[in-house]
Amino acid sequence: MGTVYAIANQKGGVGKTTSAVNLASCTAAEGEQTLLVDLDPQCNATVALGGDRDLHPSSYDCLTGDTEVAAAARPAGPDNLWLVPANVDLAGAAIELPRIENSEVRLRERLGPVRERFARTFLDCPPSLGPVSVNALVAADRVIVPVQAEYLALEGLVQFLETLGLIRRQLNPGLEVSGLLITMYDERTRLAQDVEAELREQFPGMVFETVIPRSVRVAESPSYGLPVTEHAPSSRGAVAYKALAKELAARG
Ligand code: ADP
Ligand code: MG
Repeated sequence: MGTVYAIANQKGGVGKTTSAVNLASCTAAEGEQTLLVDLDPQCNATVALGGDRDLHPSSYDCLTGDTEVAAAARPAGPDNLWLVPANVDLAGAAIELPRIENSEVRLRERLGPVRERFARTFLDCPPSLGPVSVNALVAADRVIVPVQAEYLALEGLVQFLETLGLIRRQLNPGLEVSGLLITMYDERTRLAQDVEAELREQFPGMVFETVIPRSVRVAESPSYGLPVTEHAPSSRGAVAYKALAKELAARG
């Protein structure tokens, strides 16, 4: 049975989408059937893989309609990589979902044979703890929490982990944290080193060994519609995401 990962943090710009796209492409490159579900109305993951913002069926149809996630998956370019795109309709889901009864479990109910078809499924969450992110956290087996190596990185993280606790108690008791992922790490700065040390001390065993460096190649690859592992396979960012995929596989 495959594993469903939510890539979540209510903070924007911390590397959720970048990590979702690149982790997904790395596990696909290892030969595993991999699905990336874009759950952000900004459609950044869809665009990063060369898609448009008006594709159907989309994650919106899964959240608010009868479409199954597995049925909405389309080939995303690289071998073994599949995508459920987001489109602009998704912006309405945050308003529509609360009007639907038991809306928190919509995505879980719509997964269909996702765990049978895909070894790993990555849910790229929007930067909020609204209804769409809650749906992702209820549908997921594990959460990956990207944390930017910067001042105030821990602010919001404690609140996020408390929300996870709430979701675990009320809606998804099996939900586990896969790990906290340090992103955009600039090893030349004392600040980045301090943030890493503080995270590893405060959350022992929870922080991935692999740290994602700040890298121009990572930042520019979406503009080519490619994961960094295809755009610049030997760059430090690509090497880091490959190592992360291996660490994730080892953690289970
Ligand atoms: P989120 O999905 O959490 O909002 P993104 O993955 O979109 O965050 O990243 C925010 C911005 O930072 C984007 O412009 C992205 O290209 C850039 N970025 C992400 N990771 C890196 C990195 N390792 N090195 C350089 N830039 C990065
Ligand atoms: Mg994003």
